[in-house]
Amino acid sequence: MTEHYDVIIVGSGAGGGTLANTLAPSGKKILLLERGDFLPREMGNWDPSAVFVDGRYLSPDTWYDPAGRPFQPQVHYFVGGATKLYGAALYRLRPADFGEIRFSDGVSPAWPLDYSDLEPFYTKAEWLYQVHGDHGEDPTEGPVSRQYPHPAVSHEPRVQRIHDDLAKAGYHPFHAPCGIMLDEARRPASPCIRCAWCDGYPCLVHAKADAEVIAVRPLLGLPNVTLLTGAEVIRLDTDPYGHSVSNVVASRDGEIEAYTADIVVLAAGATNTAKILLRSVLDKHPSGLANGSDQVGRNYMFHNSKAVAGFGEEPNETVFQKTLAINDFYLDGSADRGPLGNIQMLGKSNAGAMKGEEPHLTKLAPHWSLDTAAKHAVDFWLTTEDLPKPDNRVTLDGDGRVHLSYAFTNATETQALYQEFKKVLNTIGLAKHHVLRKSFYMKMDIPIAAVAHQAGTCRFGTDPASSVSDVNCKAHELDNLYFADASIFPSIGAVNPALTVIANAIRVGEHLLKRLG
Ligand SMILES: Cc1cc2nc3c(=O)[nH]c(=O)nc-3n(C[C@H](O)[C@H](O)[C@H](O)COP(=O)(O)OP(=O)(O)OC[C@H]3O[C@@H](n4cnc5c(N)ncnc54)[C@H](O)[C@@H]3O)c2cc1C
Repeated sequence: MTEHYDVIIVGSGAGGGTLANTLAPSGKKILLLERGDFLPREMGNWDPSAVFVDGRYLSPDTWYDPAGRPFQPQVHYFVGGATKLYGAALYRLRPADFGEIRFSDGVSPAWPLDYSDLEPFYTKAEWLYQVHGDHGEDPTEGPVSRQYPHPAVSHEPRVQRIHDDLAKAGYHPFHAPCGIMLDEARRPASPCIRCAWCDGYPCLVHAKADAEVIAVRPLLGLPNVTLLTGAEVIRLDTDPYGHSVSNVVASRDGEIEAYTADIVVLAAGATNTAKILLRSVLDKHPSGLANGSDQVGRNYMFHNSKAVAGFGEEPNETVFQKTLAINDFYLDGSADRGPLGNIQMLGKSNAGAMKGEEPHLTKLAPHWSLDTAAKHAVDFWLTTEDLPKPDNRVTLDGDGRVHLSYAFTNATETQALYQEFKKVLNTIGLAKHHVLRKSFYMKMDIPIAAVAHQAGTCRFGTDPASSVSDVNCKAHELDNLYFADASIFPSIGAVNPALTVIANAIRVGEHLLKRLG
């Protein structure tokens, strides 16, 4: 007979890892089931060719596009989940994102709670993940109850000049919020050495505030927390009435094992959370668990994103480039289109990464020309909101394989943001030069493989007919099943999603602590 737990959490990433961290001090018995292992600390962590060309930290999953073609999604199954590779740009959604917003292709639905409901948890999330920034600089941000725990990361000279040129031209550049363990007053004694290997790389020195380092590692050794790695949850079973989850069934080292708990929380990432439910076909839940509304797997989003590198005459010697952003177009809607979105700087590109991201453009280029291009590149990331469409969805075939259907939305806003961005490039002296357009991880030909910002699939809401879980993220149809990952997003906004996942996981954790007494 295996042990019975108070809470089982499936997945140890931004949502699951943070939830475990919130629950652990209570002494409740927690089992964290993670399909991956610890990401190895090795020199390959910082090798652009290993990371971007060889895809060393990509997990060997195969999913299928709507035409049935296989592709390798950019998923990372490790303790810490996608945050092991994330850029640690930790933004809050803007207050307007919690309401309805009209776009050219439809309406971005409201969340079942307001910005003010999530604000205290955003603050807790920023303090837990050691975010550096300066609340008050960006005119689009909502009210905050507390300043960031650390001052904004300073701009290097090239980025400072971009900041000054933008401000002179009337834009409102602000310091991007960064989750890194950097103390600029104590350098080089601080853990973060302010290197170029943050965005898209694992951090060899564990100075990036990812879910493993911040949330899960501090729990190792606690008597009430058990982490099982290599444990892929394949389905959930219920009691005979279909009211509550009775067993969490996992495959571990080739064996099928079942675990039990009073509360079960899914935090396997938007696609895999839906996959687990859709695989749990039971008498009382014939179309998959918690899926009486036929909403599980639907409304998948992942942002309309573009990485753009401008090449200036002057070399760009910046090492840590992700310190600046502008939201001047974030709320900039008009009668015929919605707001455009966010522009932020990306980690500094290099020849190795360019080769991985643009294999078709670069395969004939001699290495020296890429080196020169990379030396002059100034890198930006443009994000426009995509809409939760019911047919943009995760489904499974008869063999349980993931199929991902996705039709792009809001091309009008995406294109308008790019047009505005070209004017921005003018302002900072990069317009006369080539603009290399890259899709995130262009290594893959199929854009939907770039699942880094995957969200939706099990949205929360007040109406059981159009959502999977309620305001506390408890499944409408089950007494003891919760969600704590990006699957709950009813809409995605136009900033990076991780801080919202983290804040919501803390919120769900505090609700569970009350429920468990
Ligand atoms: C390269 C990259 C850069 C990014 N940069 C940023 C950024 O700068 N800022 C930002 O806000 N966001 C960024 N993101 C996105 C961010 O990492 C995600 O939004 C966030 O991690 C989502 O949290 P989650 O809990 O939903 O999923 P994850 O963090 O992915 O966690 C899911 C976990 O579940 C595990 N799992 C999956 N299936 C199972 C199963 N069946 N059984 C057991 N365990 C399972 C996975 O291994 C994983 O550990 C980036 C992502 C990537 C990949």
